[in-house]
Amino acid sequence: MAIEQRNNSEFYRASSFAEAANLLREHDAAIIAGGQSLMPLLRQGVIDKEAIVDVSAIEGHNEIDTDDTELYLGGLATHRELIESDLAETPWDALVETAKEIGDRQVRNWGTIGGSIAHADPSLDYPPTMIALDAEVECSNGETTEYVPLEDFYVAEYVTVLDPDQLVTGVRIPRPPEGSGVAFEKFAWRKGDMSLVNVAVRLSVEGSEITEARIIVGCMGPTPLRMEEMEEALVGSSIDDTERQRAVAEHVDKFTQPVGEEHASVEYKNRLAERLTEKALQTAAERAMEGTA
Ligand SMILES: Cc1cc2nc3c(=O)[nH]c(=O)nc-3n(C[C@H](O)[C@H](O)[C@H](O)COP(=O)(O)OP(=O)(O)OC[C@H]3O[C@@H](n4cnc5c(N)ncnc54)[C@H](O)[C@@H]3O)c2cc1C
Repeated sequence: MAIEQRNNSEFYRASSFAEAANLLREHDAAIIAGGQSLMPLLRQGVIDKEAIVDVSAIEGHNEIDTDDTELYLGGLATHRELIESDLAETPWDALVETAKEIGDRQVRNWGTIGGSIAHADPSLDYPPTMIALDAEVECSNGETTEYVPLEDFYVAEYVTVLDPDQLVTGVRIPRPPEGSGVAFEKFAWRKGDMSLVNVAVRLSVEGSEITEARIIVGCMGPTPLRMEEMEEALVGSSIDDTERQRAVAEHVDKFTQPVGEEHASVEYKNRLAERLTEKALQTAAERAMEGTA
């Protein structure tokens, strides 16, 4: 039963993800979690739905748990809860670093991890870091649950593989291999703004040899872009070969598809992506070396 009428939409407050999924099956509806991205779109009339289903009061889905093999983030955990968790001293600390870069205090207090993943805005900050960490999205319609690699989750700008009755109920992220270093870099015009370009890198080493590399660039195409050719060029090289890492970063513009803006041309964004990639490679390399020292 709808509990309120707001604008032209019926407003429902779900008490479980299964109930929310049922409401999605019954109505032309949008989920609202923290509301930080959805509310402005509703106000502007960009999104006009018969029903809004609020999932923010569902209990027990804001957990942040780790064990020997993986990290699990509940879909309703907020950016602030992630920052205040004890992840900072773990192999997943790049997520804390990323969350600290998100918006202002209000956005971090209300915005959720599930909302940030589902929104599929290519300038959001978690996706590059999470893809670098091989995250999988927990997608549920209340009856069945499946895990989709985040790398395969985005189809186009604001479009994901979620079925119309599926929700993001959590994320699981494997423990990175021993000797991994992860780094996130972002450029925004002002603190608290969305990224103009962001980059996440993971380098894993055995001895001094890079055995695995992930380079993901955000804001430079309709979805976060994984730079597989650049990754391959690093595997097998020495972790302290900064010249090679700089040379690899120079190739980033071969794989990006940026859209020029009034104050940021395509050329400017590509140079920014190159510099952020170089910086993230350098930091990830330093962290990987510390991990194996
Ligand atoms: C001023 C401002 C600055 C910001 N700056 C940044 C920034 O620097 N970096 C950054 O990464 N983000 C930034 N954001 C976005 C912020 O991270 C939002 O919290 C996030 O995009 C959406 O989370 P939410 O819980 O508020 O989702 P909502 O706004 O409630 O929903 C967003 C979308 O996801 C859908 N949705 C929500 N939850 C689920 C779910 N569990 N399952 C399926 N679909 C769901 C909704 O239907 C909607 O389409 C900013 C936002 C604002 C307003």
